[in-house]
Amino acid sequence: MLIETDLRGLSVLVVGPPGPTSAVVRRYERAGAVVTVAASADGVTPELCESARLGVLVGPAATWAVARSALAERCPVVTEPLPDASRGRVVLVGAGPGGLELMTLAGIRALAEADVVLTDRLAEVGDIATLAPGADVIDVGKRPGHHAVPQDEIERLMVGRALAGLTVVRLKGGDPYVFGRGGEEVAAAVEAGLPVTVVPGVSSAVGVPGSAGIPVTHRGVSHVFTVVSGHVPLDPQQAQALAGLGGTVVILMGMHNLVPLTTALMGAGLAGSTPAAIVERGFSPDQRSIVGTLGTLSDLAARAGASSPSVIVLGEVVRQSAVWARRTGAVRDGSADLLDRIALDALDALDVVA
Ligand code: SAH
Repeated sequence: MLIETDLRGLSVLVVGPPGPTSAVVRRYERAGAVVTVAASADGVTPELCESARLGVLVGPAATWAVARSALAERCPVVTEPLPDASRGRVVLVGAGPGGLELMTLAGIRALAEADVVLTDRLAEVGDIATLAPGADVIDVGKRPGHHAVPQDEIERLMVGRALAGLTVVRLKGGDPYVFGRGGEEVAAAVEAGLPVTVVPGVSSAVGVPGSAGIPVTHRGVSHVFTVVSGHVPLDPQQAQALAGLGGTVVILMGMHNLVPLTTALMGAGLAGSTPAAIVERGFSPDQRSIVGTLGTLSDLAARAGASSPSVIVLGEVVRQSAVWARRTGAVRDGSADLLDRIALDALDALDVVA
């Protein structure tokens, strides 16, 4: 239950067993109340009752008769049920490639209804505490020692909270099913007998090239796009298949393997003159595109100090970025002849800011 009333400054005494009351306490605090907690019937002292302007009895506390009447003599009292274990569920939400505007309305609604949000590094939608006012927000992307929470631990947390009757939102960058381990998380929820829904998100694989003016398909240019993970280098058969397929190759998680990836593709017959781009930090204020060819891309990236998160795009569609940039006049430092420069394969790192 969301509290939509402004309770700023109101003294609220929340009474109930420690675990289940914490979600209630959080909700009242978010609404601005000054909350005091009594974890047992004995804890409901006359002094606490005296200062309270509202009493909230959570779960079994509703039956703590003495405490209840002591409180009811001084202020209004409401009761809150414990979460119903049979109502727990898991919602995987794709946060999109960056910024709240690129998340779906279904995703925003899921956050508003969440009791727990498990979020990670790439799910950058702004202030999650405001979007999910009733939720305990847990960042599983990094812990104090800057280590990500291991996947099995994330699933254990997610399933455990949902089995306790809570609505658990697992917020993930882009789309949950694109290199996001969404499938594993759905399987874990299903195995635990939990209802699970998946709210799709705008994937960086399509959205980030698009933000730099690169359409992953383009009539007469490319009617195929293949999205691959560059997390590990391509083996020769994969490189061969990709090189032979034609169309656009989109590589995610490939920055630390840029040299082996581009080398393998050229070794498999993809021309070194194939237009190529790196789109860094898509949809952030410091988004940057580095445009070159397959043969020059890794050098350009090294010179420009390019890093993750970035999407690598290979194929003729990259030329469209120049067309787009020219049209919108968004190119810096007189690089309107980018198209020609690509054609001539005489390339500099370019900062094409969307
Ligand atoms: N599920 C995500 C992808 C997760 S893999 C999706 O659908 O977008 C993580 C990789 O996605 C990063 O290494 C990077 O290659 C890419 N990525 C995600 N967000 C990005 C962004 N805003 N800008 C550039 N690349 C991004």
